[in-house]
Amino acid sequence: MNIVLLGAPGAGKGTQAETLMDLYNIPSISTGNILRDQIAKQTILGKKAKEYIDLGQLVPDLFVIELIKNRITKADCDSGMILDGFPRTIAQAEALDPMLKELGKKIDYVIDVEVPHHVIVERMAGRTVCSKCGASYHNRNKVEKVKGICDFCGGKLQQRIDDKEETVRERLEIYTNQTAPLIEYYKDQGKLLVIDGLGEVEEVRQRLKDALGVKCNGNIH
Ligand code: AMP
Repeated sequence: MNIVLLGAPGAGKGTQAETLMDLYNIPSISTGNILRDQIAKQTILGKKAKEYIDLGQLVPDLFVIELIKNRITKADCDSGMILDGFPRTIAQAEALDPMLKELGKKIDYVIDVEVPHHVIVERMAGRTVCSKCGASYHNRNKVEKVKGICDFCGGKLQQRIDDKEETVRERLEIYTNQTAPLIEYYKDQGKLLVIDGLGEVEEVRQRLKDALGVKCNGNIH
């Protein structure tokens, strides 16, 4: 099962990626997390990527395509994968298909988690991420056990620079111009499932399971 998660920044892709990981026992690959890891390690790519990320812009296609190419060939992707945050442009989508084909794979579903942009701006204000492992938290619906500390690895939680309000607005505009065209692209291929991302995490999780359950004739329930 190979799934692409679309949706604006802050729509809850990461949370729904966790749901899918549990359902299918496949890894979730987040290009955002890979890039943040490169930044933390201060690699050449990381340093270059940071300039774009901090401004809320997309990292150039060639960089992320190369990262994904290396990642999806790893053995843990053999029985499938969730792509969280890739592709984000038509050029990336067009590069992904032949890469998967070479591995004897194809995209099964593309899930678009939809949330109105004004709700996203509010949501981002409460979001923090672990500086060590990248797990994300929210002060309303995903609160850490010990304030400011990651439940999983004990790392320090912090707000991402690119979650600041003006940067979020910039990211939403870029999403509308560069990523949203992928909705039509995958709709035309008959792979698109649209999920309403409003409401409590559990509600959205259930909608996701229902949508996939219908498409999979209930196999996953
Ligand atoms: P995310 O954690 O998915 O919101 O990604 C954080 C930032 O990383 C984005 O705002 C982009 O600057 C960059 N990024 C992540 N994935 C991609 C991608 N597929 N293409 C270009 N830039 C990306």
